[in-house]
Amino acid sequence: MGYQAWLTAYLAKLSGKEVRCPECGVGAVNWKLAGDPATRFGYAILWCSHCGKGSHLSRVKFPEGIEFVSMFDVDAVAAGVPEIQLVDED
Ligand SMILES: [Zn+2]
Repeated sequence: MGYQAWLTAYLAKLSGKEVRCPECGVGAVNWKLAGDPATRFGYAILWCSHCGKGSHLSRVKFPEGIEFVSMFDVDAVAAGVPEIQLVDED
């Protein structure tokens, strides 16, 4: 599994679905969304609460109604994000 699977998980979460980890299939996928409030462009950090694997999606645009923290607020970006074992991009 790799980047594409996490991108799929991200899109599913955007649409409001509960998503299982693409790596282990057990844990729920958590995310942190950080972006520029002026443009709604930013990045997403996704991780599994079970196996600790995850991915970092850059250059995404958050739809209206999706809440995200300001990417310029480093404390808000870091809050609640664990150590993540990033999967290889493919
Ligand atoms: Zn997992």
